[in-house]
Amino acid sequence: TKEQIVDVHVVWLTADRLAVLLYDVTEIKQIQQMQLDFVSNVSHELKTPVTAITGFTETLLAGAQNDPKDRQAFLQIIATESQRLTSLIQDIIALARGEQRQPKLTTFDVPNLIEQLLPALQPQIAAKKIQLKLDLMAAPTLKTDANQFEQIVKNLLVNAINYNRIGGQITLTSRLISAGWQLKVCDTGVGIASADQARVFERFYRVDKTRSRDTGGTGLGLAIVAALVTGLSGTIKLQSQLGVGSCFTVVLPNEEAGSE
Ligand code: ADP
Repeated sequence: TKEQIVDVHVVWLTADRLAVLLYDVTEIKQIQQMQLDFVSNVSHELKTPVTAITGFTETLLAGAQNDPKDRQAFLQIIATESQRLTSLIQDIIALARGEQRQPKLTTFDVPNLIEQLLPALQPQIAAKKIQLKLDLMAAPTLKTDANQFEQIVKNLLVNAINYNRIGGQITLTSRLISAGWQLKVCDTGVGIASADQARVFERFYRVDKTRSRDTGGTGLGLAIVAALVTGLSGTIKLQSQLGVGSCFTVVLPNEEAGSE
């Protein structure tokens, strides 16, 4: 039924007896293939901005810098592509860390942490005239990795802004439930078709490549979120309807919740 990859080893035991050993290496090969795919995706993604930066720099040096209009336009492209390169490198590092780093569990105040990360996103929220509604359970604490929790909230919020419509809404709900700590980020944006819903957590998968690029997306945000949530023994669920909006629900175990 399932295709298996097998390594065959033949060992002579005596002159007339041999043993054939079969090793099931399906999973190892799959992991190797995923790593190869990842490296080839990373190289491709890194090459795109580097090629643009190199190309436009050479064009400027070859004489385009003498035309003020060209100079301005090309420098703008170089600046945008450099920013893209920075985001990509940051995301690749975040992904590698999320998969390797042991979570550092501390107890912290959730509403406080969420409110601290909002000012940095305010310009993007204002630019799209988005109404942000916060529904944060008052003064409760969560025991988990604060940096990783922050990264999860940030990535989900950035997407809720980027894939929202002008004048749309974002609702961020955070509360203690019996299963642990629940964080819900809902938007009134473009939505995700059911066929794409499982795939958006894959590295570099984007429903609409152009739109994602325009918003500075790297295609790694949700892969980072998924890796962090798994590392924290949590779960993530996506409910979405095309053209209506999306809700991402994260539940993280809260060690203190059980004892309260
Ligand atoms: P990106 O950097 O492209 O945003 P992500 O890994 O964060 O990468 O998301 C992968 C893809 O999933 C996005 O390119 C987009 O197509 C889709 N997506 C993510 N979040 C949302 C959302 N809130 N609404 C609609 N589509 C989304």
